[in-house]
Amino acid sequence: MATLRLATSLYPEDTYSEHEAHSLMQRCVEEAWKSYEAGEVPVGCLYVNRFTKQVVASAGNETNETKNACRHAELVAYDYVYSTLASPKRESWFRLVQDLDLWVTCEPCIMCAAALKTLGFQRCVFGCRNERFGGCGTTMPIHELKSRDYRPLEVFAGFYEKEAIGILQYFYERGNPHAPPEKRKRPLKLVSCRPERDIGKNDAGKDDAGKDDAGKDDAGKDDAGPGATPETVATLRAD
Ligand SMILES: [Zn+2]
Repeated sequence: MATLRLATSLYPEDTYSEHEAHSLMQRCVEEAWKSYEAGEVPVGCLYVNRFTKQVVASAGNETNETKNACRHAELVAYDYVYSTLASPKRESWFRLVQDLDLWVTCEPCIMCAAALKTLGFQRCVFGCRNERFGGCGTTMPIHELKSRDYRPLEVFAGFYEKEAIGILQYFYERGNPHAPPEKRKRPLKLVSCRPERDIGKNDAGKDDAGKDDAGKDDAGKDDAGPGATPETVATLRAD
């Protein structure tokens, strides 16, 4: 299993109050449940303006509905961001994107992590790790790659991990109706992002984390601030 460097906090505490953080991740969880009800791998996300705290876009996975494996929640929501805020001036667009934080129940996959960096996003908060496809340290550290134009993607992992894992677990225990028969039910492996914490305990302000999904989706985290905990967690399952 990959080792993650974790930020000391579960979300950017210098930007969001405890109440705001809980409210935002609860909305992500609601989006994930909407995905579940639609027969999708249940992952939900929001793009939030870190200065105004406005939720600019929200979405869940749409891969099954569209039969398009690229329609992960992060990219679906990004389309809303683009259609709502797009500017003909590329520079101003980059500045606008830099003001947005991604909040998501599960670690962005390799594809989404690369897209986030390419588009200029700089920060992500997620619930649980994506053991199979995580692009924020679990399978590949896409978020840390540097280039002349793009800064590393700062990642906060483990907030609402229990809830994020719980939804995925519920989905997979029922059996993914879109997976091949031999893969519809598989055991869910649970590994916490924060091994020092009880994965079943989610308390306010300081807690939890998650997991991911099957075959199609995301999660993870990173960021290494002073005092970052070296090891990690993770979860997930398969399929
Ligand atoms: Zn993805």
